Amino acid sequence: MTHTTSATLRKQHLIDPEICIRCGTCEATCTVGAVSHDDRNYVVDPEKCNACLDCIAPCPTGSIDNWRIVAAPYPLAEQFEWMELPPQQELGDAGISPAEASEGEVGALIEAAHAGGGGRAVAPASATRPVVNLYGRSNPAVATVQGNFRITASSAESDVRHIVLSFGETAFPILEGQSIGVLPPVTDPDGRPYPLRLYSVASARDGEKRNSNNIALTVKRVPGGLVSEWLCDLKVGERIAVTGPFGSTFLMPDDARANILMICTGTGSAPFRAFTERRRRAAPSAEGRLVMFFGARTPEELPYFGPLQKVPQSLLEQQLVFSRMPGQPKEYVQDRMRANASGLAPLVADPATHIFICGLKGMEDGVDAALAEIASATGIDWAALKPRLRGEGRYHVETY
Ligand SMILES: Cc1cc2nc3c(=O)[nH]c(=O)nc-3n(C[C@H](O)[C@H](O)[C@H](O)COP(=O)(O)OP(=O)(O)OC[C@H]3O[C@@H](n4cnc5c(N)ncnc54)[C@H](O)[C@@H]3O)c2cc1C
Repeated sequence: MTHTTSATLRKQHLIDPEICIRCGTCEATCTVGAVSHDDRNYVVDPEKCNACLDCIAPCPTGSIDNWRIVAAPYPLAEQFEWMELPPQQELGDAGISPAEASEGEVGALIEAAHAGGGGRAVAPASATRPVVNLYGRSNPAVATVQGNFRITASSAESDVRHIVLSFGETAFPILEGQSIGVLPPVTDPDGRPYPLRLYSVASARDGEKRNSNNIALTVKRVPGGLVSEWLCDLKVGERIAVTGPFGSTFLMPDDARANILMICTGTGSAPFRAFTERRRRAAPSAEGRLVMFFGARTPEELPYFGPLQKVPQSLLEQQLVFSRMPGQPKEYVQDRMRANASGLAPLVADPATHIFICGLKGMEDGVDAALAEIASATGIDWAALKPRLRGEGRYHVETY
């Protein structure tokens, strides 16, 4: 096995010959002449491709949207011969592995966060295969803070921040739904490292700003919290050590026909911001619906409340739910779901629907009970449906 370091890795754009229908839209769209074809395959020249992504949206099959982290790019001659894409390679000490580590610090954290789904978590069948564990404690990626601003009102009790991290020249491939690890900046009084903290990525795979090799996080300041307080106080230009990417099941279905029902509280909205942006960029007129139930105490406490007002309902059907509005009864996401039972029941029963729940641990039981009630009102046995959805990679929980 070749020894590689993160500094030698690059992200290579490839076309899946198994799915490609040879329609030529990618070649016609590419402005730098990176895409070409012979009588067998369409291929991407790694020396010419500038990862502008202009070719992604016009492709009718999604075969164009394939990427591998490579130490040495696959040459054109090899791509012309392919019948199928090669799997993501193991990259020696850089540590790419095809499946999420089930052991160790991060495996345990993720398993605990996903436990609420019941049974073994499975990725959506159409999800892009993620890269995981590329950077660990011994070889973290270094990210530079590009932005850090508050996304709850200044009057709100909770300070939630939108933090943008740039990886510069370092390859840090991320998919919507994955998390990164942040290494605490200090050691314990005995000089031992503190456990890392996980944060969901709130931006799409091609960057917070398109093609910028950066990511966004949504971080809530936990009073007295070791890492969140530090992150929330970071200034532009400061550098932090990051591990990951992590997570191989809580992933966005890469299917424009997929309905995605997203139920969240607080920073649990982070992956759903990523899902929405991915859909907006890759399939803005998708047949599948994005439906979000998002709970907070008040509009002031709801992260991204202002920006969400500008997202059209045609892209994202929003139900913003508040539990502490003066003079009004408390309402939680599960209450709003019940109130929308007639609309939700057919969505839950639709085989094209994926359900994602993310946020506070405390929300799981209430949401589960609401889903059970909504399903049973139309004669569906939720106790039987839920494990089936779970097994099909269509029911995902990430709570912490
Ligand atoms: C899969 C996953 C995804 C996540 N995504 C996000 C996300 O997108 N955004 C986000 O904001 N968070 C996210 N989290 C939570 C995040 O990882 C951290 O747990 C959170 O930021 C708190 O970390 P901290 O270091 O600030 O707090 P910690 O230092 O861990 O402290 C947490 C609380 O415990 C108290 N405490 C700590 N030590 C002691 C002690 N010895 N005795 C008594 N009390 C103590 C602190 O005062 C604080 O109130 C995620 C977690 C998981 C598992």
